[in-house]
Amino acid sequence: AKLFPVAVVTGASRGIGKAIVKKLSSEGVSCVALASSRKSISNIKLGDHLHVLHDAQRHRSLAIDFSDWPKWTQIKKHYGIDYQMPKAPLIESNYVASEFGLFDMLRSWSSPENKYYLALLVNCAGITQASLSVRTDPTTMARILNVNLMSCVSLCNMAIKHMVRDRKFVRRNPSIINIGSILGTESSPVVAGTSLYAASKAALNHYSRVLSEEISGLDIAVETVNPGLVPQSDMIKMLDISIQEQLRHSMGPESTSTEKIASIIWDLYTRA
Ligand code: NDP
Repeated sequence: AKLFPVAVVTGASRGIGKAIVKKLSSEGVSCVALASSRKSISNIKLGDHLHVLHDAQRHRSLAIDFSDWPKWTQIKKHYGIDYQMPKAPLIESNYVASEFGLFDMLRSWSSPENKYYLALLVNCAGITQASLSVRTDPTTMARILNVNLMSCVSLCNMAIKHMVRDRKFVRRNPSIINIGSILGTESSPVVAGTSLYAASKAALNHYSRVLSEEISGLDIAVETVNPGLVPQSDMIKMLDISIQEQLRHSMGPESTSTEKIASIIWDLYTRA
């Protein structure tokens, strides 16, 4: 059978995740683009987020609310849209329960002629914090940790199982790339109002390092990319003006763009 790589990318409706699916799909990779709701995946468009380079290239979007961790991990049925050229989008459906859950496409897209395998997971979904730690209520704390850390951990665990299963017929090494933040690194500037956010990203960084060691025998690359400030992003625009100012000030004039981050992801993916 012919082999086709699939990338699962979270946070793909907007910002950095959108730039990542744009890049991957423009290079011929089939993408599963995740966002939090039916409404947000209805904005994921062919020709904008997703591009098609060859006949066997498929795309799907899925709506999963990661703030609902761990409940979402037990749900096998997710609302999604399948995009297939030349008519798109073709199917809008509530996927039938299968042991593959959100990785159902690896089975349902595959045929005796074409085999789709999981080549890449990019955990890019993230939410920020709107107030100082002392003013943040426990529900908001749980949301930040569930989206920025716990859901990434669950997705890594799920992806690893499929990557290991696909090892039998795929020679290329699969990759997991987690999107952290400069605020979650040791050299980070300390910005008041980002305590929980920075903690979730620091934890994601450390988790990725230890996970890499835990699965070192499996030839799956685990990386974290820690972007600096992306001024054009919704995430930054939604922050309190004083925090925006502080971030700009402490991170210096050096800022980055969603396209630059997407090309870093592409380089890591092709290097694996
Ligand atoms: P945006 O705010 O532009 O987009 C966030 C993405 O995450 C959207 O696709 C959104 O989906 C998804 N998301 C948010 N909440 C949930 C949820 N509950 N369940 C599922 N998906 C969810 O963010 P950016 O593109 O700016 O950031 C992307 C990543 O990069 C984040 O992890 C962020 O922490 C990190 N980062 C960003 C920086 C910046 O300056 N912007 C700097 C450093 C790191 P929906 O459309 O459904 O809401």
